[in-house]
Amino acid sequence: MAGLVGCHISLSYEPMIASLRSIAQRSVPAFMCLAAVASATAAEIDERSPELFKEWKGANEQRVAPYERFLEQRQALGTVPMHQLLRTSFDWRKEACRKVSAPPFDVPPDESWDRMAATLRLVSELRATGSLPDYEVVSAYRTPTVNKCSSSKSDRHIKNAALDLVFSDASAMEAATLRLCTFFWRDGEPRSMGLGFYGKSHKWPYGRIHIDTLRYQTWGPDTKRDTSPCLRVARVHRAR
Ligand SMILES: [Zn+2]
Repeated sequence: MAGLVGCHISLSYEPMIASLRSIAQRSVPAFMCLAAVASATAAEIDERSPELFKEWKGANEQRVAPYERFLEQRQALGTVPMHQLLRTSFDWRKEACRKVSAPPFDVPPDESWDRMAATLRLVSELRATGSLPDYEVVSAYRTPTVNKCSSSKSDRHIKNAALDLVFSDASAMEAATLRLCTFFWRDGEPRSMGLGFYGKSHKWPYGRIHIDTLRYQTWGPDTKRDTSPCLRVARVHRAR
């Protein structure tokens, strides 16, 4: 696995550096190069890049292809890029997960595919209604073993019903929180929307948001309803 990661780093950064070099050669002011670096970094927060996925997929094509066909039939293919949709735990490289050989990506069992199709339908609706700003999926399906070694342990990921999202900065996270909570109170119940919020960490300085379609429920960093920021949003709405 270490070889894969090394390969991913060189594949990810070389084209970027080459393109920056070519920008510099055209005498563009330095601040524009810095902006290019910032946006290239912001484009993918998690280290499991499309290049790493391509390499992994090469050895797992026979498992990936039927899932892609299923999602295509359900008109859910492409809602989330495949290299994000198959990301397991974002702790996959931590010692506890390395001990159980947690892979960077995995294909869920086929009996669970319908659940993810439902969650992707919700994500499409959230995007269409402007309730979800640009995001990146950092965890979807996790086996029970991988779930156990993760710092985040919701069993909704074992059921392949959940997505953990991160955002590029604090204001995007804030906008997502407000919009998703508004959607949750207004339209979440008939969609069995689960909406969880996890606190800031070294890896995710703006926190994370969990979405699923298993049960209508919201929770905050301690997994209790009382700490969900949606309760604050509800109060704001009531005050108006
Ligand atoms: Zn989650």
